[in-house]
Amino acid sequence: MSYKLLNGKEISAQIKNEIAEEVKNIIAKGGKQPHLAAILVGTDGASETYVAHKVKSCEQVGFKSSLIRYNTDVSQETLVKKIIEINENTDIDGLIVQLPIPDHISEDKIIETIDPKKDVDGFHPVNIGKLTIGLPTYISATPKGIIELLKRNNIETSGKHCVVIGRSNIVGKPVSILLSQKSETGNATVTLCHSRTINLKEITLQADILIAAIGKKEFVTADMVKEGAVVVDVGIHRVKSDKTKSGWKLKGDVKFDEVAPKCSYITPVPGGVGPMTIVSLLQNTLSASKKEIYK
Ligand code: NAD
Repeated sequence: MSYKLLNGKEISAQIKNEIAEEVKNIIAKGGKQPHLAAILVGTDGASETYVAHKVKSCEQVGFKSSLIRYNTDVSQETLVKKIIEINENTDIDGLIVQLPIPDHISEDKIIETIDPKKDVDGFHPVNIGKLTIGLPTYISATPKGIIELLKRNNIETSGKHCVVIGRSNIVGKPVSILLSQKSETGNATVTLCHSRTINLKEITLQADILIAAIGKKEFVTADMVKEGAVVVDVGIHRVKSDKTKSGWKLKGDVKFDEVAPKCSYITPVPGGVGPMTIVSLLQNTLSASKKEIYK
């Protein structure tokens, strides 16, 4: 089967242009420049890269951004104080804390300290609750990006069997809720699989749309995929490579070369879900700045 790529790089560039245009108009009318603040703890290579992309993307669309860095040994108290300070800063519209954070700090405490109004990552329980019952909210960036990628490629979800592998709070669980939601981009029959699922392959073979968010390199192989399926690969794994300048390249949770020929559509890694995630964060920040969700 000849497959089409779900080109997140191209679509995210279009969306960035749309956002940049809107920001220009807002500022021309004397409105406020959207402002995203990011907190980064430590110097983990992947986190550094993600945050650098986010900051660069803010510049590209005309947002202001502030990066606040801490050493790995920062106390929870210091972080909490900083978050409260940012919550009260009327110039900052959105705040993200790049995860993971060191083990001595409670991730739950940090997320719950962020004002839901500024929680543009959509990780706060209030925003997750709203997402679950279908109220307007900041939808976390990766699930929002996946839905937008399907929508902009006119991929019908209504009545389709979507199989999601992975039940994390930031990807698998919210995307399964969005796809099953009574909405234009939902209405699917969803099966959520995870590490305790028995006979995984029997289930994935039924998928019209298969979403892989497992965190295991090239886990999904051709024998797990139905002919003509749409496959969305969320995984990001750095592997060493002597063919690239950086010395490494990215792989996904799907064994692309053998799975792609069976698909109608598939996301590449890189250039699929990754860029859509960043652009979704920008959309949430713009929304926060315009006070669309919380007045
Ligand atoms: P996670 O580790 O929190 O969750 C992995 C999930 O996979 C778990 O729910 C687990 O039950 C399930 N799982 C593990 N082994 C399994 C097995 N053998 N069979 C079935 N299910 C199994 O991961 P996450 O945070 O959701 O991230 C998943 C992947 O996506 C990672 O590679 C991560 O780097 C990547 N990611 C990418 C983006 C992006 O923007 N592209 C964003 C977030 C995460």
